[in-house]
Amino acid sequence: MTTILEDTYRAKGLRKLLVEQLRSKGITDEAVLAAINEVPRHVFLDSSFVELAYQDQAFPIGSGQTISQPHTVAFQSQLLQVEKGMKVLEIGTGSGYQACVLAAMGAKVFSIERQRNLYFKTKDILEQLPFRVKTFLGDGFEGLPTYAPFDRIIITAGAPSIPEALVAQMKTNAIMVIPMDNPDSEGQTMLRITKLEDGTLKKASFGGFRFVPMLKDIGKD
Ligand code: SAH
Repeated sequence: MTTILEDTYRAKGLRKLLVEQLRSKGITDEAVLAAINEVPRHVFLDSSFVELAYQDQAFPIGSGQTISQPHTVAFQSQLLQVEKGMKVLEIGTGSGYQACVLAAMGAKVFSIERQRNLYFKTKDILEQLPFRVKTFLGDGFEGLPTYAPFDRIIITAGAPSIPEALVAQMKTNAIMVIPMDNPDSEGQTMLRITKLEDGTLKKASFGGFRFVPMLKDIGKD
C-alpha cells in the first residue's frame, strides 16, 4: 500500500459524536476520550464506510478476527490507568486500533499478534499513521522478555488463565487488564490485576465482555 491514509472533516465530526456516546455510557477518563477523538478508526476497517466505523460496534477485520467495539477499547484503556511515557504491552494487535489509542495517550506501545496475515496487514497500516507502535509476530502467552518489564499489560483476546510469563514481565505496581474466560457462562469477565510489592496479585472484576479466544502459538494463516 502506498497511499497515505486520510482523515476527513466528516470522520472528525463522527468521532466527536462517538466520544459523546462513550461519555454517556460511563467513560470518564478525559485522556481516553481525547485519544478516541484523535485516532481515525475508519482506516482500520476493510470497508470504506466512514459511518460504520464510528458506530459503537465491533467489526470483522479478516482472518476471522474483529476490531473491538469502541466502548470496549475505551473501557480497557480507562482500567489500564496509562500515564505518558509508560511501557505498555498489548496482546492481540488485531487491527491496531487499540494500540493506537494507547499510543495517542502517550504510551510506548509494544503489541504482539499471532496471525501472520493480520500481522503484516496491520503493520502496513500502522506505518502510514503517526502513532508509535512496535509490532511483533509471536505468541502473546510468552510476552516480550527482551523488552520487559512493563508498566502496563493489556490483553485483547479471551484468556483461559493469567499467563505466568506475563506476570513475570510486570514491574512492581504494574497493572494488567485481562478478559478472563468465564467458567459458568459464555464470554469473559474483565479483570484488573495489580502486582503488589511482595509479588502477590490484587484482583478486581468489571463485568462481562465477549472477545475472540487467546490461542497458543503462532498461527499458520
Ligand atoms: N486489539 C485489537 C482487537 C483484537 S481481536 C484491535 O484493536 O483491533 C484479538 C486478537 O488477538 C486477534 O487478532 C487474534 O489473532 C489475537 N490473538 C489471539 N491469541 C493470541 C496470542 N496468543 N498472541 C497474540 N495474539 C493473539
